[in-house]
Amino acid sequence: MRFILLIIALGIGFWIIKHLLRSRHNNQSTKEESTTKMVRCEHCDLHVPAQQAIQKDEKYFCCEIHSKQYQQKD
Ligand SMILES: [Zn+2]
Repeated sequence: MRFILLIIALGIGFWIIKHLLRSRHNNQSTKEESTTKMVRCEHCDLHVPAQQAIQKDEKYFCCEIHSKQYQQKD
């Protein structure tokens, strides 16, 4: 009987560890996507976070000036 209880306890322990590791991994990956997604400025090749980048016609720019300069170049 003790042996069975030990197996059940181990099973629950493993399940909790697995669950904790998985939820921590999910949090990290979603955090990476929302905060560190980098895009490249079409004008100067500088990499900037997507949230700070200026998007024009599916292209990204590090600042308003470069988006205008890029459009003038075309
Ligand atoms: Zn730029």
